[in-house]
Amino acid sequence: EPSLDRHYTFDNFIEGKTNQLGKAAAMQVALNPGRAYNPLLLYGGTGLGKTHLMHAAGNLMRANNPAMRVTYLRSEQFVGAMIDALRTKNMDDFKRRCRSVDALLIDDIQFFAGKNTTQEEFFHTFNALFEGKQQIILTCDRYPKEVENLEPRLKSRLGWGLSVAIEPPDFETRAAILLSKAAEKHIDLPEEVAFLVARRMRSNVRDLEGALNTLAARANFLGKPVTEEFAQETLRDLLTVHAQAITIPNIQKIVGDYYQLRLSDLLSKNRSRSLARPRQMAMTLAKELTEHSLPEIGDAFGGRDHTTVLHACRTIRELCKTDGKLRQDWDKLLRTLTG
Ligand code: ADP
Ligand code: MG
Repeated sequence: EPSLDRHYTFDNFIEGKTNQLGKAAAMQVALNPGRAYNPLLLYGGTGLGKTHLMHAAGNLMRANNPAMRVTYLRSEQFVGAMIDALRTKNMDDFKRRCRSVDALLIDDIQFFAGKNTTQEEFFHTFNALFEGKQQIILTCDRYPKEVENLEPRLKSRLGWGLSVAIEPPDFETRAAILLSKAAEKHIDLPEEVAFLVARRMRSNVRDLEGALNTLAARANFLGKPVTEEFAQETLRDLLTVHAQAITIPNIQKIVGDYYQLRLSDLLSKNRSRSLARPRQMAMTLAKELTEHSLPEIGDAFGGRDHTTVLHACRTIRELCKTDGKLRQDWDKLLRTLTG
C-alpha cells in the first residue's frame, strides 16, 4: 500500500524564487483541503521538488487532522491498481476506494498519456472528488496542455484549480539546499564547497543531492575532509559539464555597469565609499563565482593585496546581513551573473 513519505516536509523544503509559489500553494491546500485550490497542479522538470511538496502537503494535512484519509499514488500505481481491478472484476471496489478519500495525490500524471481507459476512469474519479470537495493534488513534468495524448476534457479540468510552475532553483537556493541536506545527513560541508557545487551544477536538486552523497561517500571512504580541492577532484566530470564562463573581467564589467562606474575607477586606488563598496562587491563576486585565488583576484583589481580581497569578502558578507539595499544589489548582481 503506497503511502506518504514522512521525510518530505515543508520544514525541510528550502524556498527560493523559483519554488516559493508552489510551496505556498501546497501549504494553503494542506491547511484548507478541498477549499483553497482544487485541483492543485504542480508542474515542472524532473528533480525540482514536486514530489517533495506533494508529500509535504499530505503530511501536513494528516498532522493537522489524523483522521484525514490521504492517498498518495504514483500515476503508474493508479494505472496498475485499475488494471488489477479490471482483471479481477473489482471495479466497484476500486472506484469506492478512490472516492472515499479526503485527499487524492497523484504524482507524474504525464504517464496517463495515451492510456485511454485510465484517463476515462481518472476523469470520473476526478469529477466525483471535485464535486465532493475532496482535495486533488497532481504533479506533471510539464504544463498539461503540452502533454500529448491527454484527453482535452481532462486537460480542461486540470486547469480548474491552480497550476503552479516549479522552476530550477537559483544559485543561492542551490547553495542553501546543499547546506541544509548536508546538515540533515550529518555531512560536514564547508560553505565554500557548497558555493562551488552550487555555482557549477545548475540542473536540478536531485543532481545536487547526488553530488553531495558522492562527496560524502568518498570523503568517508578515504577519511578526508570535504575541501574545495577534494570536491573539484571528486566531481570533476559532473562539474565541467555544468561549468560556465564567469570571468573576472566579466564581473568587473557587470558591476561597473550596475553602479555606472568606469572600469578605471573600479580598479583605481581611490578609496571613496562610492567606489570602495562596488569594488568590494566585485571582488567578493569574483571569489564566490570563479576559481581564482585571493592573490589572483587582488592582482586583477589593480594589484591589490590578498588581505584586501579577504577583507572585502568579509565586509560584503556581513553587510548582506544588515544592509537591505546592499543585499538587493548583491542578489541582482548574482542573478545577472549566474542566470
Ligand atoms: P520532482 O518530483 O520534481 O522530480 P523531487 O520532489 O523528487 O523532484 O525532488 C528531488 C530531490 O530533491 C528530493 O530528495 C527532494 O527532497 C529534493 N528537493 C527538491 N527541491 C528541494 C527544496 N527546495 N528543498 C529541499 N529539498 C529539495
Ligand atoms: Mg517526482
